[in-house]
Amino acid sequence: MNVFKFGGASVKNTQGIQNLKEIVAHFGNTELLVVVSAMDKTTNKLENVVNAFTSDQAWKDQLTEVFDFHKTALRELVGENDPQAIETLDKIQDYAFTFLEQDGGSEYDFIYDQIVSLGEILSTKIIASYLNSAGVDVDWQDARKLVHTDNNYRDARVDWESTEHKVTEMWERKSSNIVLTQGFIGGGDHNRMTTLGREGSDFSAAIFAYCLQAESVTIWKDVPGMLNADPKHFSNTSLLPNISYKEAVELSYYGASVIHPKTIKPLENKHIPLYIKSFLDPSLAGSVINENTSEDSKIPSYIFKTDQVLLSISTRDFSFIVEEHISDIFNRFAKHKLKIQTMQNSAISFSVSVNNHPSKVKDLVENLQRDYQVLYNEGIELMTIRHYNEAIVQELIKGKEVLLEQKTRHTMRLLMRGNGQ
Ligand code: ASP
Ligand code: MG
Repeated sequence: MNVFKFGGASVKNTQGIQNLKEIVAHFGNTELLVVVSAMDKTTNKLENVVNAFTSDQAWKDQLTEVFDFHKTALRELVGENDPQAIETLDKIQDYAFTFLEQDGGSEYDFIYDQIVSLGEILSTKIIASYLNSAGVDVDWQDARKLVHTDNNYRDARVDWESTEHKVTEMWERKSSNIVLTQGFIGGGDHNRMTTLGREGSDFSAAIFAYCLQAESVTIWKDVPGMLNADPKHFSNTSLLPNISYKEAVELSYYGASVIHPKTIKPLENKHIPLYIKSFLDPSLAGSVINENTSEDSKIPSYIFKTDQVLLSISTRDFSFIVEEHISDIFNRFAKHKLKIQTMQNSAISFSVSVNNHPSKVKDLVENLQRDYQVLYNEGIELMTIRHYNEAIVQELIKGKEVLLEQKTRHTMRLLMRGNGQ
């Protein structure tokens, strides 16, 4: 069997869903498990509802809008031909309103998962209704009953053993060669809904593939495959036709956002290749991630992060920075939940860059200043280059002020100030 994953951009409207049908119908003569995200920006919209609700602002109209959008999509796709599907959407809407009106006192993360997970339920209900009415038989399955997690809301951890058991059992009982289910969501204890972290649908696809020993996973995207740089920041991008699992893990560690970082490991463990293909032109070859390392260093990759803060921390008496200081400083970063992007130490100072999260950075700086001298620079860019060469580096730093530079054999990282002033 094979696993397909369609993200929010691929099902952003009814045309996207019709396109999904063409792809599934074309490739769906073997057994297929199709994982789908919420339509378009639905997850953000539901997040906004939860934020409004938990901060005592008006939320009802926003929630109604989300349901209206989905009901319109369903009507456009199947007309009045599937009254059961229309009823299902109404029931989900009733559930959402009742839940929020009655569970006002619960924790933010818990409320978030009970509401935000509905985006995937809605999209897959609509898609199942449309596919079945268009003659592509699918078996809709509820990922909350398959992906068993703990109750660590918004970042739930998968219980692999019981998930494998549930997924294989479902697969034996399925009523069609094509199963359609949700990405991103799972089921915790006491029938609670959980989510696996934003953009987690790729990871869901990997979970199902792992459990079912899939022959392959294909992620359908609006780009022709895995690119060596984000087209938002670079005008000349090249396709990476084949990279290894190891290289993909490195790239996602440094911040390449094409695939969710948790996706690779389960696939690597079971030697399942991951294809990234364009839903706009499925005839293109796209990219494949597998065991083959021979192509890894052929094309340099660029990962660009803006809005970094560089902190330089020294002792007040200018004594050397030693192990005790570093371990104390690390603890403070962890306590303030700031993830270190780069770090470097010299005799008297320890330099660290983090993503700028203004309130967290401010609290951390205040905390550090009790015992250390802290200098900080905002508005810094972090550029990571895999498989760099000197000519590329010279081109990239032209007109910029380099504040920190780190080189290993394959990776170069530069912290720079934008326009070199
Ligand atoms: N719909 C979820 C999100 O937008 C999961 C995903 O798209 O992968 O974060
Ligand atoms: Mg998404």
